Amino acid sequence: MLGAIEAGGTKFVCAVSDDQLNIVERISIPTETPTETLAQVFAFFDRYPIKSMGVGSFGPIDINEASATYGYITSTPKIKWQDVDLLGQLKARYDVPMAWTTDVNAAAYGELILGAANGKSSCLYLTIGTGVGGGAIVNGEILHGFGHPEMGHIKVKRMESDEFEGICPFHGDCVEGLVAGPALEARVGMKGQQVPENHYVWRTQAYYIAQALMNYSLVLSPEVIVLGGGVMHQQQLFPLIRKELKRLMADYVALPEMEAFVVPTMLGNNSGIIGCLALAKEKNNK
Ligand code: ADP
Ligand code: ZN
Repeated sequence: MLGAIEAGGTKFVCAVSDDQLNIVERISIPTETPTETLAQVFAFFDRYPIKSMGVGSFGPIDINEASATYGYITSTPKIKWQDVDLLGQLKARYDVPMAWTTDVNAAAYGELILGAANGKSSCLYLTIGTGVGGGAIVNGEILHGFGHPEMGHIKVKRMESDEFEGICPFHGDCVEGLVAGPALEARVGMKGQQVPENHYVWRTQAYYIAQALMNYSLVLSPEVIVLGGGVMHQQQLFPLIRKELKRLMADYVALPEMEAFVVPTMLGNNSGIIGCLALAKEKNNK
């Protein structure tokens, strides 16, 4: 059996599957203290003969294998999870090969293997939810460097009439500070779900999201960009973002056809957990 954990700031999703990634059982556990949450994680996986595991975690996390804190969740704003050796605690319980990456990298991989980027060798996955986070697949592999990408925190040019200061505790008006769900809600003073389809704010969102996508496209040249997260449930954003991205590119780079280039997630809330299972499968083959 393959094991997978999508470790999120509000919930941990755990799943086991067969070698074809058919999910046998899946549970969702609220993210409490590490001790409480891991006790439930162990209770779940103890019941299965797991031969490898894929873990996609909220971050920032340490993915540098040469580092003394490899496998740790590092400077998260969730105090109880700061400097927690998540991978180490899992390895101490289960002596099997384990893949370790961010939740968004896992989601990008899931979309590549079974979702909207199936058949491609590159893609970018961006979630716009409680935060903004992105993962990239290049030549079939997750892009890692000195650490993992933090695509939500790039700078964008401000809209002239926009006086919203942004809510990122580190950078103020980075992309996350401008367009994540809580920023959108602070901007308009209502829940994201309640904002009408024709509200001006969707143009503002699209203006900034398109700039971010332009930057990612120029640097990484992904074959497809998959957009997920709660805010992207607002389907009217897609045409607005595509139009703005096309305008910004000004025909300099021949992008793939827009409708096929900027697409919604195909796996929905499952891209992360499926990506983790696929990574577990790979570990097993190595
Ligand atoms: P998370 O990022 O924590 O995994 P979500 O992707 O569901 O979770 O993102 C939650 C955020 O998305 C909330 O801040 C909320 O403002 C926003 N959100 C959720 N649903 C919608 C919606 N239908 N329209 C606009 N915003 C939404
Ligand atoms: Zn930031």
